[in-house]
Amino acid sequence: MTSTGRIALALAGVGKIARDQHIPSIESGSDFALAAAISRNGKIDGVENFVDYDAFLAARTDITAVSLCTPPEVRFDMAKKAIKAGRHVLLEKPPATTIGEAEAMSVLAKEAGVTLFATWHSRFADAVKPATEWLVGKTIKKIEIIWKEDVRRWHPGQAWIWEAGGFGVFDPGINALSILTAIVPGAITVNHAKLSFPSNRQQPIAASLAMSTAEGAPIVAEFDWRQEGPQTWDILVETDAGKLQLSKGGAEMFVDGVAVATGHDREYSGIYQRFAELIRNGQSDADYQPLRLVADAFLRGERHDVDAFIE
Ligand code: NAP
Repeated sequence: MTSTGRIALALAGVGKIARDQHIPSIESGSDFALAAAISRNGKIDGVENFVDYDAFLAARTDITAVSLCTPPEVRFDMAKKAIKAGRHVLLEKPPATTIGEAEAMSVLAKEAGVTLFATWHSRFADAVKPATEWLVGKTIKKIEIIWKEDVRRWHPGQAWIWEAGGFGVFDPGINALSILTAIVPGAITVNHAKLSFPSNRQQPIAASLAMSTAEGAPIVAEFDWRQEGPQTWDILVETDAGKLQLSKGGAEMFVDGVAVATGHDREYSGIYQRFAELIRNGQSDADYQPLRLVADAFLRGERHDVDAFIE
């Protein structure tokens, strides 16, 4: 805790999402004081910058919370070390590369008595709460997810995203699954998956999933990174009492075509408010359902070879 009553926080992995969202949200909020950064190349002005993560943990014992904004591949090791050193940990999505790592982090955090917050930023989008409330008491007949974006536009130069553990098109697709598992009650299962791999890459550029709700309603999802025109992040839910549409990644909501909620970009400020609340209440929040659906899609996945991807 700093003299101003804020929780001292360090950020690891100064890349796109750290600069676009985390740093502005931490600085505009009143809960945290950004006190250090750990990154091999990136730096944050006005705070102590470390290249070596172990050196940071040893040197800055005054910093009680760490926000991990690195790619998932290196997050488990960083999270384990921070938890063992008694720090509260915020994980960018996806929380880890495997379910095993994710569950291990939860066990370690419980043993250490620290807060672990596995964030799903899309769950903080404006329309997700009203959509969840609207669906209460209705019978879902079918769900369609269309998540199509241009990888060159949203992930330029991110080599890690194509490597083993990088998630490929599931990096954005898991955001849709995080909304799906928030608004639909009960366990969702994956029945079939078709994964399209560019011949020169380790991760899929597109995926088609067939899933079911706990009540047996069909869910289809199309994730595609080859979308060059309009970008689409929509979830359509047909019920016995009307049609719900979530658009723009959960920012906008329509019922039977009529707008109900219009988005303001508050996802990351909501995340940091929740992290502070969890720390103050001595709680953790780590729901791994979206990661489990991705893992199941890979387990069920039929491989299809498609054209090489040249950035
Ligand atoms: P990024 O631009 O590549 O930044 C990640 C940073 O992590 C890198 O700049 C790098 O900084 C550091 N890093 C540490 N170990 C690394 C490694 N082995 N390989 C690559 N970088 C490493 O990625 P990002 O877009 O910010 O994404 C980071 C995480 O945020 C991902 O899990 C992603 O799913 C999530 N996210 C991204 C977005 C988005 O719009 N981009 C949105 C929401 C969530 P140094 O080189 O300085 O160490």
